[in-house]
Amino acid sequence: MRDKEKHKARQQRLKAEVDAKVAQAQTEKGVLLVLTGNGKGKSTAGFGTVLRAVGHGLRCSVAQFIKGEWPCGERNVLSELGVAFHVMNTGFTWDTQDREADTRAAQAVWQAIAQDLANPAVDLVLLDELTYMLSFHYLEVDEVLTALANRPTHQHVVVTGRNCHRRLIEMADTVSDVTEVKHAFSVGVKAQKGLDW
Ligand code: ATP
Ligand code: MG
Repeated sequence: MRDKEKHKARQQRLKAEVDAKVAQAQTEKGVLLVLTGNGKGKSTAGFGTVLRAVGHGLRCSVAQFIKGEWPCGERNVLSELGVAFHVMNTGFTWDTQDREADTRAAQAVWQAIAQDLANPAVDLVLLDELTYMLSFHYLEVDEVLTALANRPTHQHVVVTGRNCHRRLIEMADTVSDVTEVKHAFSVGVKAQKGLDW
């Protein structure tokens, strides 16, 4: 009985603390969310956020800084739901051979998504695998940061990818570092449809 009362008192204190914090958080603004780290789950979390936004009727745009022929289950569904996709048609591959073609491909996707980053009608933008475009110097960090800083104040942006640029981390409101504990690939399991792509 004493335990039960103690538990109740503890829970009430906790509730009061959480309620006070919730009451304090009153700011409405577009959030810049960075999902980085070496563990699995960054792009899936980014697409999950797009799905969440679409479920509330928000207008979303996605830039995928990967080759367009790469299959992507989320793209199949979300494009049917009116989400705009900008994907590289040519160029960038992981074993990059042609730097100029890669840069052109990255720039083309950037030019397209930059319009959405300037458009107040767009509520959420996902920049999937953007971080590599900065680390490979395919896109200028100043140009990207300026576009993010100047975006409409209500617009949310989600950036995914490993080794996120320090200045982008500094600018972000929320940053999650996804840690690899283990991954099936390292013991020879190939990328699985529906789980990995
Ligand atoms: P996902 O798209 O599954 O959310 P991710 O975006 O976190 O993964 P990326 O670095 O973009 O990870 O990886 C692209 C592909 O590599 C995906 O098929 C993903 O499942 C797989 N992958 C992710 N993390 C690892 C890892 N630590 N080792 C091997 N493969 C990985
Ligand atoms: Mg990814």
